[in-house]
Parts: sequence; C-alpha cells; structure tokens
Amino acid sequence: MIRFEQVGKRYPNGHVGLHELSFHTERGEFLFVTGHSGAGKSTLLRLLLAMERPTSGKLLLAGQDLSRISNAQIPFLRRQIGVVFQNHQLLFDRTVFDNVALPLQILGLSKPRIHQRVLTALERVSLKDRAQQYPCDLSTGQQQRVGIARAVVHRPALLLADEPTGNLDPRLAAEIMGVFEDINRLGTTVLIASHDLALIARMRHRMLTLQRGRLIGDGEAGQ
Ligand code: ADP
Ligand code: ADP
Repeated sequence: MIRFEQVGKRYPNGHVGLHELSFHTERGEFLFVTGHSGAGKSTLLRLLLAMERPTSGKLLLAGQDLSRISNAQIPFLRRQIGVVFQNHQLLFDRTVFDNVALPLQILGLSKPRIHQRVLTALERVSLKDRAQQYPCDLSTGQQQRVGIARAVVHRPALLLADEPTGNLDPRLAAEIMGVFEDINRLGTTVLIASHDLALIARMRHRMLTLQRGRLIGDGEAGQ
C-alpha cells in the first residue's frame, strides 16, 4: 500500500524533515507513527498527500510513484486518501450531514447516492441520529467523530490522521481510537501520527518511531 524507499525530505531552509526513511505497509494494516515534536511525523503525512515532494528516494502509494506524480494527478491521488486533523476543521454554519456530504458534492455524486453514503458514514461513527444538528450541538468527541465520518465518506483506501486525539481526555481518546479500529476492520489502511504513547501501547498495533527524521523503531507497540 505504502512504500518508502530511502526517502529524504530537505526543506528549502535546510531543515531535514526525513532522512533516508524506508518502510512499507500492506493493504489493510493499522499503524502508528510516533516521535517527539520535530521528529518528522507531519512531513511523512504531507509526503503521502503530495503536499510536499521527497528530495531523494522513492515513495509509492498503491503502486503510484509520488516522487514523480504530476500536479494534474494529485486530485486523483487524494481521492484514495481520507484525512483526520486534530482540530477536525468542521464548518460550524452547516449541519453534520452537510459537513460529511462535502467531499461527495465535490466529487459530483448524485443526491440519493450522497444521502445514502453520508448516513452510512455517520452510522459507522454512531452519529446517524445527529445528522440534522450543528457541530456546536455536539461534544468534542462527537465533533471528532464527524471529522472521521467526513474523512471516510468517499471510501478511501488509506486513512491518515494527524494527532487525532490531541485535544481529548484519555477516555474519549480511547473511544476515538476504537472508531479507527472499526474502520480498519472494513479493509481501510489506517496510519495515525500521534505522540500519545500510553494510549498507543495499549493498542498493540505496529508502531514506527521517528527521531529527528530517522526511523529508530518498527514493531508492535507495547513490546
Ligand atoms: P513532527 O510532525 O514530528 O513534529 P515535522 O515533520 O513537522 O515533525 O518536522 C520535522 C523537521 O522538519 C523539523 O526539524 C521541522 O523544523 C522541519 N520542518 C517541518 N516543516 C517545515 C517547513 N515547512 N519548512 C522548513 N522546515 C520544516
Ligand atoms: P453504494 O455502494 O451503492 O453507495 P452502500 O452505501 O449501501 O451502497 O454500500 C454498499 C456496501 O459497501 C455495504 O455493504 C457497505 O457496508 C459497504 N461500504 C460502505 N461504505 C464503505 C467503506 N467506506 N468502506 C468499505 N465498505 C463500505
């Protein structure tokens, strides 16, 4: 699914985001990327989204070479990916339904199909009954679940999350991780950047550890 081959990322100001990073994942895997601030987690996510280009090495996503992808191909690449942010970035003047529908409207799906898919996605995060409410009517954890529904509504092969539990207390954080596990069980590859080591250790998934742009660990969390 994802293959990094000695991927390096040096920013124009000389900062090294990643240094000769190599790893690969199979389709349907669940993995964490962890490391202190500045370790390279966000750089790794931005490379997968083609928001940044590697400065060396080769990066493949579902067989597509992201080191050589043209700008015209980027929208097609992003259709295969869902993204969850720490601050879910919901639109507060639109209902839950409309927030989740947005990616499908951009794709130009028909209204009945959008309706069906949005309700399926909301059901997946146990918020089907909240479709007509506004984000401000929901708790922080529920808002984050709406963000997850929006990230998976177009059925991406890969779900990326950047510190998705950063603002949540430990109980809610565990609940959100459970939602990611449910989505993974349906076949979606899930990659979560997080530095919440206590939570990660309990989940026993694969964990990549970065330190100053280098991979210093790759194994089951909590071992
Ligand atoms: P993390 O997400 O683990 O905190 P980052 O990927 O944001 O790490 O950062 C890795 C390194 O790359 C850091 O040294 C950081 O200063 C540098 N970096 C990240 N983004 C940029 C950028 N846009 N321009 C220059 N340097 C950057
Ligand atoms: P359609 O494909 O016609 O839009 P549905 O939304 O009812 O129809 O989904 C059809 C099947 O696909 C159902 O079994 C549903 O569980 C499954 N499905 C829906 N969303 C996803 C998803 N994000 N990932 C994997 N399977 C999904």
